[in-house]
Amino acid sequence: MSATPPFKTSTRPRLFTPGPVEIPVRILRALSQVAPHHRTDVFRATYTKVSEDLKWLHQTQGEVLMLAASGTGAMEATVVNLMAPGAKALVLVGGKFGERWANLCKAFGVPYESITVEWGNAISPADVAAKLDADAAITTVFATQSETSTATWYDIQAIAKETRSRGKRLVVDAITGVGVHPLPQDEWGVDVIVTGSQKGLMSPPGVATVSLAPFALDAIEGDKLPRFYWDLRKARKSLPTGESAFTPPVSLIFAVGVAIAMMREEGLENVHRRHAKLAAAVRAGAQRIGFSLFSKSPANSVTALLPPAGVEASAVVKRLREVHGITVAGGQDHMKGKMIRVGHMGSYDLSDIYVVLGALEECVNALGHKADGACSAAREAWEAAS
Ligand SMILES: *Cc1c(COP(=O)(O)O)cnc(C)c1O
Repeated sequence: MSATPPFKTSTRPRLFTPGPVEIPVRILRALSQVAPHHRTDVFRATYTKVSEDLKWLHQTQGEVLMLAASGTGAMEATVVNLMAPGAKALVLVGGKFGERWANLCKAFGVPYESITVEWGNAISPADVAAKLDADAAITTVFATQSETSTATWYDIQAIAKETRSRGKRLVVDAITGVGVHPLPQDEWGVDVIVTGSQKGLMSPPGVATVSLAPFALDAIEGDKLPRFYWDLRKARKSLPTGESAFTPPVSLIFAVGVAIAMMREEGLENVHRRHAKLAAAVRAGAQRIGFSLFSKSPANSVTALLPPAGVEASAVVKRLREVHGITVAGGQDHMKGKMIRVGHMGSYDLSDIYVVLGALEECVNALGHKADGACSAAREAWEAAS
């Protein structure tokens, strides 16, 4: 062990990961209250309020169901509740989370077609249309709004036009989309949206949601794949009573309620605009000091960066943590050790971006790439996007 501790700029741990994200103090306070029993009037009132708030967030007149799970639980629930035995799916794959839809289909024996694009590319709505036209047996399309593994945004509005006009169902994993990018469910015609609490909802992991548009409420009825805990008919049935079918994650539901209250105060459009500005600031600042963008269609939730020549991505990740107390994500699968992913969804503002960019600038200089000006580039981009 070395006798001198390493140089440090901060002893306060900071998260810039694409989930879990940093939890604002107001939400931490909500989490620290004594949890009431879930079959009480006081909790029923909260449960009903949060369910209504989630409808506001999704801009739907349908129903939003809460499940005790991470985001993948809601993805699985969607597959087993929508797909009848033998019914065919189309999955859109451009990264780890698109692959997850395919893996769920495999696990449940759902026959599926896929559209696969190289990592960092968006899915073309025209390709979706062509695939649907070529195979009339496809009933349901499984998509992602923000592919977190590649920091790529997909045009769900355009994809929904193709599914709606053909009478196909569209399911969107918007786990890093909701609260970041616009996704007005009913207006765009998205049948089902899934989210998880630890991303755009700024809360700890443990609540997943399934939002059913009014025109998709009956999609979960009838003969479907085997389901018990994830049987959404049970969740729907108990919703009007202000209760969940099974014991809910009470404290986390308080947290999600406060998260949505914060978004209501800021205004949904302003929340989306702030995320666009945060993303613009990160992209500009990082490019100023020699990073390049991995995605050809960058999302506003997370930014995937390739380091300047001669600098190892894994060395940057390590130095950010050891010297600056900052955790970011690396790449996954074939991009492991090749890129860094900086998350900026939730309650971040420009001053947080200065923190991560200032640290990135220190890291690349320490690792041999001379560069400066990241924070001023970020501020210029923020102002230009305002
Ligand atoms: C985080 C995430 C998920 C779900 O992951 P969990 O670990 O189950 O919460 C699914 N899709 C996307 C796009 C994600 O970012």
